[in-house]
Amino acid sequence: MKQEQCIFCKIIAGEIPSHTLYEDENYKIILDVGPATKGHALIMPKSHYADFYELPEEAAADVIKLAKKMMIHMTDKLKCDGFNLVQNNGEAAGQTVNHFHMHLIPRYKNDGEILKYIAGEPDREELERIKRTITE
Ligand code: AMP
Ligand code: ZN
Repeated sequence: MKQEQCIFCKIIAGEIPSHTLYEDENYKIILDVGPATKGHALIMPKSHYADFYELPEEAAADVIKLAKKMMIHMTDKLKCDGFNLVQNNGEAAGQTVNHFHMHLIPRYKNDGEILKYIAGEPDREELERIKRTITE
């Protein structure tokens, strides 16, 4: 399952070079070329799925297990102080490469507010309306 124009499929096929941290039959972890912090990496399945909506459940479980192992390993090697797992789906959510991937972002004290968002201030009625929209 390879998509001709997909940059990550090309990386997986060896047509574009990458800095590979880990690889097995089904998954690959590479360094991000535009890192938010030192060691910023990406986990991707070798099969092409556009996003988390498309990713089969078994693969989702594999990715989480792999993320946990790699996060522990990278924390040990890089001596980082914290870690973000980030996963974008769709243009509105900031996804720029439409081949499912999860960001592994080591965090260091005072490395900047790279993932900061502005907290909203909904009242209780608004929260209750949203809850009903989701649960009913
Ligand atoms: P997203 O915005 O979640 O789709 O993330 C895509 C990520 O892929 C960005 O952080 C890019 O820096 C990264 N990226 C794009 N092209 C490459 C490449 N050839 N090798 C490694 N990372 C890449
Ligand atoms: Zn792809």
